[in-house]
Amino acid sequence: MCVKNDNYQKGRAWIELNMENLAHNARQFQKLLPDCCTLMPAVKANAYGHGAKRVGKVLSEMGISDYCVASVTEAVKLRQSGIKGQILILGYTPPCQFHELAQYHLTQTVVDLPYARLLNDYGHPVCVHVGIDTGMHRLGVRSEELDHICAIWELEHLNITGVYSHLCASDGNSEKEIAFTRKQIAEFQAVVDTLHRRGIKGFRTHLQGSYGVLNYPELEFDYARVGIALYGVLSMSGERIAAEVELRPVLSLKARVTCVKVLHENEVAGYGLAFKAERDMVIAVVSIGYADGIPRELSNKGYALVNGCWANVIGRVCMDQLLLDVTGIPKVHAGDEVVFIGRSGGKEIQACEMAGSAGTISNEILSRLGERLGRVYV
Ligand SMILES: *Cc1c(COP(=O)(O)O)cnc(C)c1O
Repeated sequence: MCVKNDNYQKGRAWIELNMENLAHNARQFQKLLPDCCTLMPAVKANAYGHGAKRVGKVLSEMGISDYCVASVTEAVKLRQSGIKGQILILGYTPPCQFHELAQYHLTQTVVDLPYARLLNDYGHPVCVHVGIDTGMHRLGVRSEELDHICAIWELEHLNITGVYSHLCASDGNSEKEIAFTRKQIAEFQAVVDTLHRRGIKGFRTHLQGSYGVLNYPELEFDYARVGIALYGVLSMSGERIAAEVELRPVLSLKARVTCVKVLHENEVAGYGLAFKAERDMVIAVVSIGYADGIPRELSNKGYALVNGCWANVIGRVCMDQLLLDVTGIPKVHAGDEVVFIGRSGGKEIQACEMAGSAGTISNEILSRLGERLGRVYV
């Protein structure tokens, strides 16, 4: 069974990636965005578990040349994989890695004025985008501190090619969240206008992530930093979005049945006596666990698809294995495929559904998928 490459990758537990769906999603966003706005895919956290190298290759073959990541190490890896265009680091880069910014022609976010000065003191030219805090209160110079913002343009070694902010409630449909987002948009626009009025020009602007685009598609900034939705999934199930886009999930998560056994009435299964059989049942041991990214929270709670049928997780999710109730599912054998995210028969489990059962969002599920999973690109 395990001779060819793909079969080997699909030996125990693996991720299947449909790169045509990725390209489809990218085209959907390109169509949705105003002509002046360029898609800047977010490929941080190994492209949300999808594999940054391969995702970067597919997107760059489509002519996409601007990317954003969280860390300088992610940026260097992406550059080394052959990405030629702009790579923006959204997070903090420590001074001990400043030389990598110059060496790999990376673009660094200025997180505040003291950081801008520190980066300038490095003494070599570095491309930067200035972060503006419009209310999230994470990174960026506060939008009302215009003199601090302008002071960054005085620093001789910083080549400022962009100015951006981040929306923190653009996924919400409540009046409060919409009003907050509108205020963030207005404050960001006011900073851009003030810079222009003071004669500061020649920089690009960006504000929206996935939900910024999906719920406020009319905004006309220069880039849109789209992450989760590019991978074809929403953060939570049942979300309403304003834009009309047809997104297709890129990633499936699968494992194998390793053995099938009978559990008699009143017997327990797994760690901590957390599951007790109320009647005789058939259970399947499956070769995937929390080290692969199945949340332990799904103990006695999650579900998967076996031969196109629903099967509940029973007992505690272990580090490398878990148990499913396969009572009544016909013909379950060792070696069968088990689907945790994706399709089996006519049924589907979306990443956001698994996330919902685990009390989180699909972004967390995908970005925490384990390194030891096999990868198959289809
Ligand atoms: C991660 C991130 C994004 C992408 O967010 P999605 O919601 O996944 O589209 C955009 N901007 C910043 C600053 C981020 O940290």
